[in-house]
Amino acid sequence: MAYDDQNIFARILRGEIPNKTVAETKHTLAFHDIAPHAPHHVLVIPKGAYVDFADFAANASAEEMTDFHRTAAGICAGFGDGYRVISNSGAHGGQEVPHYHLHILAGRPLGPMLTR
Ligand code: 5GP
Repeated sequence: MAYDDQNIFARILRGEIPNKTVAETKHTLAFHDIAPHAPHHVLVIPKGAYVDFADFAANASAEEMTDFHRTAAGICAGFGDGYRVISNSGAHGGQEVPHYHLHILAGRPLGPMLTR
């Protein structure tokens, strides 16, 4: 899928839409999800234009990947009772925003991974 630079997260990165920032580095932005599914629901996005996990893994630089994962891991480290990391892709994955992102969820027991 080609990257759509009008997606919501691209607009957040350009400063066109406000966000509640949790962490920001050279290559990564983390912010609170606007409609949280848990007491803590943080989105972590690369600043580069990547559609999903596979695009990021195939095309991001080693520096971007290290920065992204260490920023996400630093947020996870704050959740001593545990957390869940999710990344959706495409129609079957339920991806709404076509800019790669991790969901970090925490703050209560999160239940089974998926409803059967
Ligand atoms: P996806 O379904 O693509 O994996 O997740 C997209 C997430 O982005 C959803 O959890 C949704 O609540 C969140 N989201 C959508 N629009 C906005 C927005 O304008 N600001 C923030 N902070 N989150 C958003």
